[in-house]
Amino acid sequence: MIRFYNTLSGRLEEFKPVKPGEVRLYTCGPTVYDYPHIGNYRAYIFEDLLKRFLLFSGFRVRHVMNITDLDDKTIRGARSQGIPLADYTRKYIEAFFEDIKTMRILPADVYPRATEHIPDMVRMVKGLLDKGYAYIKEGSVYFSIEKFPAYGRLSKINLDELKAGARIDSDEYEKESVHDFALWKKAKEGEPFWETELGPGRPGWHIECSAMSTRYLGPTIDIHCGGIDNIFPHHENEIAQSEAYYGQKFVNYWLHCHHLVVEGEKMSKSRGNFYRLRDLLNKDVDPLDLRFLLLSTHYRKMLNFTFDNLAQAKAARQRIIDFVYELEHRTWASGSEPQVSALADKTLTEFTKTLADDLNISAALAVVFDFIREINLGLTRDMIKKTEAEKILKTIYKLDEILAILPEKKDENLPAEILEKIELRQKARKEKNFKLADSIREELRQMGIILEDTKEGIRWKKIK
Ligand code: AMP
Ligand code: ZN
Repeated sequence: MIRFYNTLSGRLEEFKPVKPGEVRLYTCGPTVYDYPHIGNYRAYIFEDLLKRFLLFSGFRVRHVMNITDLDDKTIRGARSQGIPLADYTRKYIEAFFEDIKTMRILPADVYPRATEHIPDMVRMVKGLLDKGYAYIKEGSVYFSIEKFPAYGRLSKINLDELKAGARIDSDEYEKESVHDFALWKKAKEGEPFWETELGPGRPGWHIECSAMSTRYLGPTIDIHCGGIDNIFPHHENEIAQSEAYYGQKFVNYWLHCHHLVVEGEKMSKSRGNFYRLRDLLNKDVDPLDLRFLLLSTHYRKMLNFTFDNLAQAKAARQRIIDFVYELEHRTWASGSEPQVSALADKTLTEFTKTLADDLNISAALAVVFDFIREINLGLTRDMIKKTEAEKILKTIYKLDEILAILPEKKDENLPAEILEKIELRQKARKEKNFKLADSIREELRQMGIILEDTKEGIRWKKIK
């Protein structure tokens, strides 16, 4: 059984998609007004863990992630540089696609952009006006939250002090200013606008996700994700718009990750603790060490980013890499030890079982490290035979379908030129020409390859 914590009910619930075997997943994507920071990647990596786990469990997953290329922040950015919106957002969109590849985040099936879906949004806003959920005020259209009695259920806000008819135009606001919110904003001097049946203007941010999720996933989706900052007002407003318009449940499971903070504090440029992913990669941080760090705290816990934690994550990941290296480079006695094979099976089952419990990654990683400890013990006692070694490796690679933290296999293929040098050194050693052998070894070291002579033969290792 798979269970997830649903923000809507505030409980752990058994996960059952509408269509058996198929999951429709919507995740709020980047607002492309800057390069994404590591907090954003906490959200994307939690979503990637969820998706990889669902795929691993045999579901087909249809995943849609929007690109917010039209909102208050992107417009402000483009204006400040005096360039068209599309020119401003382009480099951030490109950077995002590059970065998710670097972070081994599986691509979504569709990445709809707000600027390319204006007609869908207009249709929805018109429908909300027709149904009486929305009203026009000075050329803009607002959602009347008192018309939607379920308003506030997701974020559990208190509506008692709601001022009837008070409105808010900005895309982002705090719980304290819960108001009717803008669905369509009248054209303003210096802002991009579209000529539509609603008059000249542009959509509010919230209607974008309602319109684009429905276009690609239908009116009811299985799982909708984001960071906790999205719960109010963004997701609360999405529910109001979509359910008022379609008259059916919008999302069955709402999953939100807690925030990433830096050295215990909220990231902010003024505090000097604000890290874009690129800032870290430029400091020579290995993206997969960072992936491992972001992955390894349970998604509903706050994640405290520190360079010490990053060093610990690096060391833990290295333990897994070294383990794989050891298994791939030993020579094995033939035969089998059934209990080792059973341990590998048990590890895989336990790993999946813990993840099925609301993505309990800490417990899942504990299972992996217990396995490594046990097998290492077996290695020192010469208990691992060829059949098991293969099975152990297969198990680790299977786990890595979810973790995605092992170095690329292709790293293992050395260029022919290096292989030749290794052979040349072997020959020199056989001929007892140790001077030549040593000089080749040093030459290889300069090239980043370390050779080790073991009783099973020669082994090599890449250094950075
Ligand atoms: P944005 O680009 O601001 O629209 O955010 C993209 C995603 O990142 C959303 O799911 C946000 O909730 C999430 N997010 C933003 N800041 C943080 C943070 N500090 N920690 C975790 N997730 C975040
Ligand atoms: Zn959204």
